[in-house]
Amino acid sequence: MEKTATLIDGKKTAQQIRNEIKAEVATIVDKHEKGPHLAAIIVGDDPASQTYVASKERAAKSVGMTSSTYRYPEETTEEELLSAIDFLNNDSEIDGFIVQLPLPAHINVDKVIDRIDPSKDVDGFHPVNVGKMAIGQPAYVSATPAGILELLKRYKIETEGKHCVVLGRSNIVGSPLSILMAKKAYPGNATVTVCHSKTQNLAGITKTADILICAIGSPQFVKAGMVKEGAVVIDVGIHRISADNEKGYRLVGDVAFDEVAKKAAYITPVPGGVGPMTIAMLLKNTLSAAKKEFY
Ligand code: NAP
Repeated sequence: MEKTATLIDGKKTAQQIRNEIKAEVATIVDKHEKGPHLAAIIVGDDPASQTYVASKERAAKSVGMTSSTYRYPEETTEEELLSAIDFLNNDSEIDGFIVQLPLPAHINVDKVIDRIDPSKDVDGFHPVNVGKMAIGQPAYVSATPAGILELLKRYKIETEGKHCVVLGRSNIVGSPLSILMAKKAYPGNATVTVCHSKTQNLAGITKTADILICAIGSPQFVKAGMVKEGAVVIDVGIHRISADNEKGYRLVGDVAFDEVAKKAAYITPVPGGVGPMTIAMLLKNTLSAAKKEFY
Protein backbone atom coordinates (compact mmCIF):
# COMPACT_ATOMS: atom_id res chain seq x y z
CA MET A 1 0.00 0.00 0.00
CA GLU A 2 1.23 3.49 -0.80
CA LYS A 3 2.50 5.45 2.19
CA THR A 4 0.77 8.73 3.01
CA ALA A 5 1.07 11.37 5.72
CA THR A 6 -1.16 11.61 8.79
CA LEU A 7 -3.66 14.40 8.26
CA ILE A 8 -3.64 17.21 10.81
CA ASP A 9 -7.36 17.84 11.01
CA GLY A 10 -7.87 21.55 11.63
CA LYS A 11 -11.62 21.33 11.24
CA LYS A 12 -11.99 18.75 14.00
CA THR A 13 -9.47 20.48 16.27
CA ALA A 14 -11.12 23.87 15.75
CA GLN A 15 -14.48 22.33 16.68
CA GLN A 16 -12.97 20.93 19.91
CA ILE A 17 -11.61 24.38 20.76
CA ARG A 18 -14.95 25.99 19.98
CA ASN A 19 -16.70 23.50 22.28
CA GLU A 20 -14.24 24.35 25.07
CA ILE A 21 -14.85 28.08 24.49
CA LYS A 22 -18.62 27.59 24.43
CA ALA A 23 -18.51 25.89 27.84
CA GLU A 24 -16.48 28.77 29.30
CA VAL A 25 -18.74 31.39 27.73
CA ALA A 26 -21.77 29.67 29.31
CA THR A 27 -20.11 29.95 32.73
CA ILE A 28 -19.35 33.65 32.15
CA VAL A 29 -22.94 34.32 31.06
CA ASP A 30 -24.24 32.53 34.17
CA LYS A 31 -22.06 34.69 36.38
CA HIS A 32 -22.28 38.08 34.67
CA GLU A 33 -25.45 37.78 32.56
CA LYS A 34 -23.43 38.94 29.57
CA GLY A 35 -21.27 36.96 27.16
CA PRO A 36 -18.04 38.18 25.56
CA HIS A 37 -18.71 40.69 22.78
CA LEU A 38 -16.67 40.61 19.56
CA ALA A 39 -17.09 43.46 17.08
CA ALA A 40 -15.76 43.83 13.55
CA ILE A 41 -15.27 46.89 11.37
CA ILE A 42 -15.37 46.39 7.64
CA VAL A 43 -14.74 49.10 5.05
CA GLY A 44 -15.83 48.64 1.44
CA ASP A 45 -17.37 45.62 -0.20
CA ASP A 46 -14.52 43.27 -1.05
CA PRO A 47 -16.33 39.89 -1.38
CA ALA A 48 -13.62 37.84 0.36
CA SER A 49 -13.61 40.25 3.33
CA GLN A 50 -17.42 40.15 3.51
CA THR A 51 -17.26 36.33 3.64
CA TYR A 52 -14.56 36.35 6.35
CA VAL A 53 -16.45 38.82 8.54
CA ALA A 54 -19.71 36.91 8.13
CA SER A 55 -18.06 33.65 9.17
CA LYS A 56 -16.40 35.31 12.18
CA GLU A 57 -19.79 36.66 13.23
CA ARG A 58 -21.44 33.22 12.83
CA ALA A 59 -18.61 31.55 14.74
CA ALA A 60 -18.85 34.03 17.62
CA LYS A 61 -22.60 33.49 17.89
CA SER A 62 -22.18 29.71 17.72
CA VAL A 63 -20.17 29.77 20.97
CA GLY A 64 -22.64 32.07 22.71
CA MET A 65 -20.75 35.34 22.23
CA THR A 66 -22.36 38.58 21.14
CA SER A 67 -21.17 39.74 17.77
CA SER A 68 -21.67 42.98 15.88
CA THR A 69 -20.39 44.23 12.57
CA TYR A 70 -19.89 47.89 11.71
CA ARG A 71 -20.00 48.40 7.95
CA TYR A 72 -18.58 51.49 6.27
CA PRO A 73 -18.56 52.42 2.56
CA GLU A 74 -15.41 52.28 0.42
CA GLU A 75 -15.14 56.11 0.42
CA THR A 76 -14.92 56.34 4.25
CA THR A 77 -12.06 58.67 5.16
CA GLU A 78 -9.18 57.72 7.44
CA GLU A 79 -10.43 60.24 10.03
CA GLU A 80 -13.90 58.68 10.01
CA LEU A 81 -12.43 55.21 10.47
CA LEU A 82 -10.20 56.40 13.33
CA SER A 83 -13.29 57.90 15.03
CA ALA A 84 -15.11 54.58 14.65
CA ILE A 85 -12.16 52.87 16.34
CA ASP A 86 -12.21 55.43 19.18
CA PHE A 87 -15.89 54.67 19.65
CA LEU A 88 -15.24 50.91 20.03
CA ASN A 89 -12.19 51.53 22.23
CA ASN A 90 -14.44 53.45 24.62
CA ASP A 91 -17.50 51.19 24.49
CA SER A 92 -17.37 49.09 27.65
CA GLU A 93 -19.90 46.64 26.17
CA ILE A 94 -17.33 45.50 23.60
CA ASP A 95 -14.54 43.22 24.83
CA GLY A 96 -12.56 42.97 21.62
CA PHE A 97 -12.74 44.02 17.97
CA ILE A 98 -11.04 43.60 14.65
CA VAL A 99 -10.65 45.83 11.63
CA GLN A 100 -10.94 43.57 8.60
CA LEU A 101 -7.99 43.91 6.20
CA PRO A 102 -7.26 44.88 3.49
CA LEU A 103 -8.43 48.47 3.79
CA PRO A 104 -8.99 50.77 0.79
CA ALA A 105 -5.71 52.20 -0.54
CA HIS A 106 -6.41 55.77 0.70
CA ILE A 107 -6.33 54.59 4.35
CA ASN A 108 -3.03 54.08 6.18
CA VAL A 109 -3.28 50.62 7.72
CA ASP A 110 -0.48 51.20 10.26
CA LYS A 111 -2.23 54.30 11.61
CA VAL A 112 -5.47 52.32 11.93
CA ILE A 113 -3.86 49.42 13.81
CA ASP A 114 -1.98 51.85 16.08
CA ARG A 115 -5.30 53.43 17.09
CA ILE A 116 -6.82 50.18 18.40
CA ASP A 117 -6.66 49.87 22.19
CA PRO A 118 -4.13 46.99 22.68
CA SER A 119 -6.41 45.52 25.35
CA LYS A 120 -9.16 45.09 22.72
CA ASP A 121 -6.86 44.09 19.83
CA VAL A 122 -8.00 40.46 19.53
CA ASP A 123 -6.29 40.14 16.12
CA GLY A 124 -2.97 40.69 17.92
CA PHE A 125 -1.76 43.16 15.25
CA HIS A 126 -1.07 46.20 17.48
CA PRO A 127 2.68 46.87 17.96
CA VAL A 128 2.23 46.52 21.74
CA ASN A 129 0.86 42.99 21.35
CA VAL A 130 3.47 42.07 18.72
CA GLY A 131 6.20 43.39 21.02
CA LYS A 132 4.89 41.54 24.06
CA MET A 133 4.64 38.32 22.03
CA ALA A 134 8.23 38.81 20.81
CA ILE A 135 9.62 39.16 24.35
CA GLY A 136 7.47 36.37 25.73
CA GLN A 137 4.95 38.40 27.74
CA PRO A 138 1.32 37.25 27.76
CA ALA A 139 -0.53 39.01 24.95
CA TYR A 140 -2.92 38.44 22.08
CA VAL A 141 -1.09 36.42 19.44
CA SER A 142 -2.23 36.81 15.86
CA ALA A 143 -4.78 34.08 15.20
CA THR A 144 -3.19 32.16 12.32
CA PRO A 145 0.21 31.63 14.03
CA ALA A 146 -1.59 30.84 17.31
CA GLY A 147 -3.74 28.27 15.48
CA ILE A 148 -0.69 26.58 13.98
CA LEU A 149 0.98 26.31 17.39
CA GLU A 150 -2.22 24.86 18.81
CA LEU A 151 -2.31 22.21 16.05
CA LEU A 152 1.31 21.22 16.75
CA LYS A 153 0.47 21.00 20.46
CA ARG A 154 -2.72 18.97 20.09
CA TYR A 155 -1.03 16.54 17.68
CA LYS A 156 1.89 16.27 20.16
CA ILE A 157 4.42 17.07 17.46
CA GLU A 158 7.97 17.32 18.81
CA THR A 159 9.47 20.73 18.01
CA GLU A 160 12.46 20.93 20.38
CA GLY A 161 15.76 20.91 18.53
CA LYS A 162 14.03 20.47 15.17
CA HIS A 163 14.80 22.54 12.12
CA CYS A 164 11.73 24.62 11.35
CA VAL A 165 11.68 26.43 8.01
CA VAL A 166 9.10 29.19 7.68
CA LEU A 167 8.36 30.13 4.08
CA GLY A 168 7.20 33.76 4.17
CA ARG A 169 7.88 36.73 6.47
CA SER A 170 4.58 38.65 6.53
CA ASN A 171 3.65 40.57 9.69
CA ILE A 172 0.57 38.45 10.31
CA VAL A 173 1.87 34.96 9.56
CA GLY A 174 5.53 34.26 8.73
CA SER A 175 7.25 36.73 11.08
CA PRO A 176 5.30 35.93 14.27
CA LEU A 177 5.58 32.20 13.54
CA SER A 178 9.34 32.39 13.18
CA ILE A 179 9.57 34.18 16.54
CA LEU A 180 7.20 31.77 18.31
CA MET A 181 8.86 28.62 16.97
CA ALA A 182 12.23 29.80 18.32
CA LYS A 183 10.88 30.63 21.81
CA LYS A 184 11.99 28.74 24.89
CA ALA A 185 8.64 26.98 25.11
CA TYR A 186 6.57 24.18 23.70
CA PRO A 187 5.75 24.36 20.84
CA GLY A 188 9.04 26.11 20.18
CA ASN A 189 12.70 25.51 21.01
CA ALA A 190 13.17 24.90 17.28
CA THR A 191 16.03 26.15 15.16
CA VAL A 192 14.27 28.46 12.75
CA THR A 193 15.11 29.56 9.22
CA VAL A 194 12.94 32.22 7.55
CA CYS A 195 12.74 32.21 3.75
CA HIS A 196 11.32 34.94 1.48
CA SER A 197 11.37 36.12 -2.11
CA LYS A 198 15.08 37.03 -1.95
CA THR A 199 16.17 33.66 -0.52
CA GLN A 200 18.66 31.78 -2.65
CA ASN A 201 18.61 27.99 -3.03
CA LEU A 202 15.12 27.80 -1.53
CA ALA A 203 14.58 24.08 -2.25
CA GLY A 204 18.00 23.28 -0.74
CA ILE A 205 16.84 24.90 2.51
CA THR A 206 13.27 23.58 2.60
CA LYS A 207 14.63 20.05 2.05
CA THR A 208 16.42 20.27 5.40
CA ALA A 209 13.22 21.18 7.31
CA ASP A 210 11.83 18.80 9.93
CA ILE A 211 8.89 21.20 10.16
CA LEU A 212 8.02 23.18 7.05
CA ILE A 213 5.50 26.00 7.42
CA CYS A 214 4.36 27.38 4.06
CA ALA A 215 2.91 30.91 4.03
CA ILE A 216 4.03 32.14 0.67
CA GLY A 217 0.76 33.00 -1.08
CA SER A 218 1.49 31.02 -4.24
CA PRO A 219 -0.76 28.09 -5.21
CA GLN A 220 0.82 24.61 -4.98
CA PHE A 221 4.31 26.14 -4.95
CA VAL A 222 5.88 23.57 -2.62
CA LYS A 223 6.51 20.32 -4.50
CA ALA A 224 7.60 16.92 -3.21
CA GLY A 225 11.17 17.58 -4.33
CA MET A 226 11.38 20.48 -1.86
CA VAL A 227 10.36 18.38 1.14
CA LYS A 228 12.36 16.04 3.38
CA GLU A 229 11.06 12.50 3.86
CA GLY A 230 9.10 12.36 7.13
CA ALA A 231 8.69 16.15 7.52
CA VAL A 232 5.75 17.89 9.20
CA VAL A 233 4.19 20.18 6.59
CA ILE A 234 1.87 23.03 7.58
CA ASP A 235 0.10 24.73 4.69
CA VAL A 236 -1.17 28.24 5.43
CA GLY A 237 -2.00 29.24 1.85
CA ILE A 238 -5.50 29.35 0.50
CA HIS A 239 -6.29 29.87 -3.18
CA ARG A 240 -9.12 29.24 -5.61
CA ILE A 241 -8.08 27.47 -8.79
CA SER A 242 -10.45 26.67 -11.64
CA ALA A 243 -11.84 23.16 -11.60
CA ASP A 244 -14.21 21.04 -13.62
CA ASN A 245 -16.95 20.90 -10.97
CA GLU A 246 -20.25 22.61 -10.18
CA LYS A 247 -18.62 25.61 -8.52
CA GLY A 248 -16.04 25.99 -11.26
CA TYR A 249 -13.22 26.17 -8.71
CA ARG A 250 -11.56 24.30 -5.87
CA LEU A 251 -9.42 25.41 -2.95
CA VAL A 252 -5.73 24.61 -2.78
CA GLY A 253 -2.90 25.69 -0.52
CA ASP A 254 0.72 26.72 -1.02
CA VAL A 255 1.63 23.02 -1.08
CA ALA A 256 1.10 20.52 -3.91
CA PHE A 257 -0.84 18.32 -1.50
CA ASP A 258 -1.09 15.00 -3.40
CA GLU A 259 2.62 14.62 -4.06
CA VAL A 260 3.85 16.11 -0.76
CA ALA A 261 1.48 13.92 1.32
CA LYS A 262 3.33 10.84 0.01
CA LYS A 263 6.57 12.12 1.49
CA ALA A 264 5.56 13.94 4.69
CA ALA A 265 4.82 12.34 8.07
CA TYR A 266 2.12 14.92 8.90
CA ILE A 267 0.34 17.43 6.68
CA THR A 268 -2.49 19.97 6.99
CA PRO A 269 -5.09 19.79 4.21
CA VAL A 270 -6.61 22.79 2.39
CA PRO A 271 -9.41 23.33 3.12
CA GLY A 272 -9.83 21.98 6.66
CA GLY A 273 -6.33 22.62 8.03
CA VAL A 274 -5.06 25.99 9.23
CA GLY A 275 -8.13 27.99 8.04
CA PRO A 276 -10.67 26.80 10.65
CA MET A 277 -8.06 27.23 13.40
CA THR A 278 -7.70 30.94 12.62
CA ILE A 279 -11.31 31.68 13.53
CA ALA A 280 -11.19 29.41 16.60
CA MET A 281 -8.14 31.32 17.91
CA LEU A 282 -9.84 34.67 17.29
CA LEU A 283 -12.66 33.45 19.53
CA LYS A 284 -10.10 32.31 22.10
CA ASN A 285 -8.53 35.78 22.07
CA THR A 286 -12.00 37.31 22.54
CA LEU A 287 -12.57 35.04 25.52
CA SER A 288 -9.22 36.19 26.96
CA ALA A 289 -10.33 39.80 26.42
CA ALA A 290 -13.58 39.23 28.31
CA LYS A 291 -11.63 37.56 31.15
CA LYS A 292 -9.12 40.45 31.14
CA GLU A 293 -6.35 37.87 30.96
CA PHE A 294 -3.64 40.14 29.58
CA TYR A 295 -4.69 43.69 30.47
P1 NAP B 1 2.03 37.77 2.06
O1 NAP B 1 1.88 38.95 2.94
O2 NAP B 1 1.79 37.89 0.59
O3 NAP B 1 3.51 37.19 2.28
C1 NAP B 1 4.04 36.19 1.47
C2 NAP B 1 5.47 35.93 1.86
O4 NAP B 1 6.00 34.92 0.99
C3 NAP B 1 6.38 37.16 1.72
O5 NAP B 1 7.26 37.21 2.82
C4 NAP B 1 7.14 36.91 0.41
O6 NAP B 1 8.46 37.39 0.41
C5 NAP B 1 7.20 35.39 0.39
N1 NAP B 1 7.28 34.90 -0.99
C6 NAP B 1 6.43 35.19 -2.01
N2 NAP B 1 6.85 34.53 -3.13
C7 NAP B 1 7.97 33.85 -2.81
C8 NAP B 1 8.85 32.98 -3.51
N3 NAP B 1 8.67 32.68 -4.80
N4 NAP B 1 9.88 32.43 -2.84
C9 NAP B 1 10.09 32.69 -1.54
N5 NAP B 1 9.28 33.50 -0.79
C10 NAP B 1 8.24 34.08 -1.42
O7 NAP B 1 1.10 36.57 2.53
P2 NAP B 1 0.50 36.19 3.97
O8 NAP B 1 -0.48 37.19 4.39
O9 NAP B 1 1.58 35.78 4.90
O10 NAP B 1 -0.30 34.89 3.53
C11 NAP B 1 0.32 33.75 2.93
C12 NAP B 1 -0.76 32.80 2.44
O11 NAP B 1 -1.53 32.37 3.54
C13 NAP B 1 -1.77 33.43 1.47
O12 NAP B 1 -2.16 32.42 0.55
C14 NAP B 1 -2.95 33.79 2.35
O13 NAP B 1 -4.18 33.78 1.65
C15 NAP B 1 -2.90 32.68 3.35
N6 NAP B 1 -3.47 33.01 4.67
C16 NAP B 1 -4.30 32.08 5.21
C17 NAP B 1 -4.81 32.27 6.46
C18 NAP B 1 -5.69 31.22 7.05
O14 NAP B 1 -6.39 31.47 7.99
N7 NAP B 1 -5.64 30.02 6.50
C19 NAP B 1 -4.50 33.43 7.20
C20 NAP B 1 -3.63 34.37 6.62
C21 NAP B 1 -3.10 34.12 5.37
P3 NAP B 1 8.82 38.98 0.49
O15 NAP B 1 8.63 39.36 1.93
O16 NAP B 1 10.22 39.04 0.05
O17 NAP B 1 7.85 39.67 -0.43
